[in-house]
This record gives sequence, structure tokens and C-alpha cells, in this order.
Amino acid sequence: MKCLKCSHEKFEVKRRKFTPEIKNQLLEVEVPCFVCKNCGSTLMDSEQMNVLRRAASDRYRESNTLLTSTQIVKYREDLRLSQAAFARYLNVGEASIKRWETYFIQDNSQDDHIRLKCDELYAETNYLNVYWKCQEPDIFSGNKKFNLEFFKQIALYLVAKTRESIIFLNKLHFYIDFYHFKKYGNSITGARYVPLKYGPCPDQYKIIYNSFEKNGVLNSRASNKYNTKIKPDLSVFDDSEKETIEYIYSLYALHGARYLYDLSHKEKGYIDTSECTFISYEYANSLKI
Ligand SMILES: [Zn+2]
Repeated sequence: MKCLKCSHEKFEVKRRKFTPEIKNQLLEVEVPCFVCKNCGSTLMDSEQMNVLRRAASDRYRESNTLLTSTQIVKYREDLRLSQAAFARYLNVGEASIKRWETYFIQDNSQDDHIRLKCDELYAETNYLNVYWKCQEPDIFSGNKKFNLEFFKQIALYLVAKTRESIIFLNKLHFYIDFYHFKKYGNSITGARYVPLKYGPCPDQYKIIYNSFEKNGVLNSRASNKYNTKIKPDLSVFDDSEKETIEYIYSLYALHGARYLYDLSHKEKGYIDTSECTFISYEYANSLKI
């Protein structure tokens, strides 16, 4: 091997920064290549070119929230499938798998398809989204269609302000929606609540909170407690909704979590509703706050 610039024949392998372009996006990557010991020019063999292509493609995928080649490989390995079996499982050609696992960038719908078939939480959240879209508002949703964005903003606000565990957060969610219904005849988030052992809880709260974690909204610290990774944005709410949220928070700040926890267990809606059914918002009128 000779240097193309000075014909020197001694090289060393070093990591160098490159800025390849993919789909009009400049991407900075650092990969190993040969560096001429005499003049410092760089040279790559085909293996290093492949590493560069894959690194650039993964950088592009990362910045466009697509699965990286490594994540796709991990999905396949978690399912314990060969590339051929994985291709059959996804209903695509084996060549696609080989390419996605290296340098070829899957499009958005392919990315969605891979996640739906490989990521349990993604599939569950998708199932819930379909379920929520099909559900008409009724007395069990507080006359509102479920709004995940509203639920998320309230969750963020509660986590940021109280740093309580999910068991207490659930009570605050309950009081926010039910109290708002009592005053205005509709809930804020459209969430349905079920009477569980630890009191009234938003239906599917575990999946919802897990998806917040997975999507970089929250991260968990010890024992069902969370930190916020983004700031809550109450500007999505109207004035009366904001007032309700802040009022329930003020009750918490004044009396503490334990008080609201105990109170929620004395609510008629909680006591009278049997397990596995939703608590009717009609009970909001007999709320103890
Ligand atoms: Zn040289």
C-alpha cells in the first residue's frame, strides 16, 4: 500500500473524524483508518469503508429517531432468530435484514413495522392508542376522549412537583380528573380509573408510565419513583384546567400524600365500584374534597 500523495509506504491505524453526507444531512463520525506516517494523508481499505458507512448511517438514524443497526441486531438476537428467520418473521427479504443491520437506512414505515413486531412496549402502546381512538367519550372517561398528551403533561407536573411514587401519583391523577368533572362536567385527560388494591388508579397506568420512560420523558429512580427528563408544559391547558391541577397540588402540599391516599380509599366511587370495572365520574359529586 502506497500513500496517494507522497508514495510513502508506512502507515499507522488511527481514529479520524469524517463528515459524510446522507440525504442532505452532514454527519460527523469518528472511525479508524490508515494514516500516512510521512504526510498524514488518510487511506481506507474496504473493511474500514464499511465501518464508516455503518457509522454514518447509524448517526443519521439516531438523529432521526430511527432504530440503529445495533438496535435492530439486538431485537433479532433477543428473539433468538437467524437473519433468515427474522426476515420471515418480518415478512421482508433476507437481503433487507442484512442491509438494515449494517448501512442501509430503513424508512419510517419499515421502522414502525420492526418496532411493532419486536418491541413489546411499543406494540402495547400502539394497541392502547387504537383502543383509545375507538372509544367514544362516556361517563367512565369523564365525557372526554383520552388525551395522552394531557395525561403526560400532568404526569410531568406531578413528578416534578412532588417526586412521589407512582402509588401516590395515581391518586393525584384521580383527584385532578374527578374534581374537574365535579366543577365543569368533564375530566381533563379523559382517563378511566379502576379501583385497585392501592386505591383508584388510571387504567393502564403502568404501560403509560413505562412508555414515558422509554420515550425519554421520565426516568425512574428507586422504587417506582421518577425524575423528569423534560419540563412540564401547562400551556396546553385552559385556565380552568390549570386551576384544577394547581388546586389538587395545593391540597397535597398542605396535607401531604398520606392524607390524599387515605381519603381516596374512603371515596364512594372507590368503595362501590367492583374490581375490573371503571369508576363512574358520577361519583365525582360525592367527592370528599
Ligand atoms: Zn503520505
